[in-house]
Amino acid sequence: MFAGYLAAKQSCESCGLAFEPLRADDAPAYFTISIVGHIVVSGYLAIESTMHPPVWLQLSIWMPGTLAMTLGLLPFIKGAVMGAIFSSQARRGRAV
Ligand SMILES: [Zn+2]
Repeated sequence: MFAGYLAAKQSCESCGLAFEPLRADDAPAYFTISIVGHIVVSGYLAIESTMHPPVWLQLSIWMPGTLAMTLGLLPFIKGAVMGAIFSSQARRGRAV
């Protein structure tokens, strides 16, 4: 489905479905920020309130964790958004 990290291919290699009308735009970033933000903030606060670690330790856990979760989730969420656009028939240039 993807030619690079996030760039969608022109069409499906198996069935020829054109991916261009399935433009996800900013929705994958929005959903990724929402999911990762909830995990990071609740994790930070849970550790802070129970173990009271120093700030440098919290930052050394959550900054690379945030980066890893964001980069790991983004392609999957983009694929899910493109699938949702396809299945809902809400494609570009089409009245829903
Ligand atoms: Zn296909």
